[in-house]
Amino acid sequence: MESKEVPGIVSTRFAPSPTGLLHIGGARTALFNYLWAKRNGGRFLLRFEDTDRARSSAEFEEAILDDLRWLGILPDEEAARQTDRAARYSDALAELCRIGSAYACFCPPEEGVGTARPHADKCRFIPSEERARRIASGEPFCLRFAAPQGDEPFVFPDRLRGELSIKRSSIGDFVLARSDGSPTYFFAVVVDDHDFDVTHVIRGEEHLPNTPKQELIYRAFGWEAPEWVHIPMVLGSERHKLSKRSGAVSVASYREDGWTPEALVSYLATLSWAGAPDDAISGAGDLARAFDIGDVSLDSPVHDQKRMDHFGRMAMRGLSVESLLLECRALFPLPPDGGALIDSDRAALIGELLPSCACKSELARSISEAFLLRDPGEEDEPADGEWARDLSGALSSVAPEAWNSENLKNILRGFQKERGLKGRALYHFLRMKLTGVGQGAPITLLMGCMGKTNAMGRLDADRD
Ligand code: GLU
Repeated sequence: MESKEVPGIVSTRFAPSPTGLLHIGGARTALFNYLWAKRNGGRFLLRFEDTDRARSSAEFEEAILDDLRWLGILPDEEAARQTDRAARYSDALAELCRIGSAYACFCPPEEGVGTARPHADKCRFIPSEERARRIASGEPFCLRFAAPQGDEPFVFPDRLRGELSIKRSSIGDFVLARSDGSPTYFFAVVVDDHDFDVTHVIRGEEHLPNTPKQELIYRAFGWEAPEWVHIPMVLGSERHKLSKRSGAVSVASYREDGWTPEALVSYLATLSWAGAPDDAISGAGDLARAFDIGDVSLDSPVHDQKRMDHFGRMAMRGLSVESLLLECRALFPLPPDGGALIDSDRAALIGELLPSCACKSELARSISEAFLLRDPGEEDEPADGEWARDLSGALSSVAPEAWNSENLKNILRGFQKERGLKGRALYHFLRMKLTGVGQGAPITLLMGCMGKTNAMGRLDADRD
């Protein structure tokens, strides 16, 4: 779709409830909001919807902010918090009551917040003197919105879905504030988005049923509603909702596993946006230049770990081997005699293993596994020729400081030639003795990284 130039300052927001860690779905919502704001030279805001005090925590706020920072999706202003805005919500509620769009309802709370069934408006038409008397007598009440009645359709626009329409009477008189005066989600979000000049509400489609209620509140105040953009939900591999509780999909768990933020951002951008490059790693800034919210597809994307691994591997290949070596040095075997190891071999081994690793913890595992001495299966028992003892002699003559893959390669080549050995016999023998498995990184590289004492110890093990 052709990008429509947006007049004025585009402001988007990400509004998580700090009741859990940031997960893949939430991070993708935050990213799309960020990209759309940046694409238009606008502002990206963060708001913590923490009115559910029992489940919200400052630790989760901090964790979400840390993850956003790590992803490079930084808000342009300090994060707002709904619990800091109680006075503003009270004022706005008073205003709605004054203009006749809200009324006190004395029905028991079970008919209140969260009821799927529209409220039967029992209290809406109570005469005003009676209502005032009951309030003054201390009877508990909540505040409800006086929703439009009748059967004509209520129409509201969505950027991706066009004009949406529902029956007016199906909206019902929903609750704006509970009997303790605290605002409901529907209400607080509208006041916040209005006060912060949010121009585009980009959020998961699970919020679509809330939108007519919010649109009604805007109209009651006479405020201009933002553009609604409901993006499809990211599904799990069995095509059901990804859950916050599933630790495997939290941004923090990927971060702890040593993923690069660029890999995550590049992958997240592909979840519903066909314009995102599939074969390159991009920063949020690059993506923003090409992003168009109108191009987001309505098909629910599936979180596909294999596809994400592909981005992880591309990003890992872009990392400097030297810096990875600094992080991974401790994973290489140390020579028992404390002799020096050659860094160029260790760097070369990292370069060998890197292309198949999606994250740093996978690289660490590959490095450690490369040096495991496994038990060879019976059929793979190294075929020990009569030359084996001489091979050991030839290798033991190498000075420990000259023990590196280049010298080892030359010595083995010379030995092979001198003895008229087939390459496979010699190298397979070495590989089985030194690692116990028939394939892996070049054996001379592994030997160089192992150091002379370790390698000779393995080569000579079990020899009488
Ligand atoms: N707090 C809501 C959530 O975490 C988001 C509400 C919104 O974006 O309007 O799902």
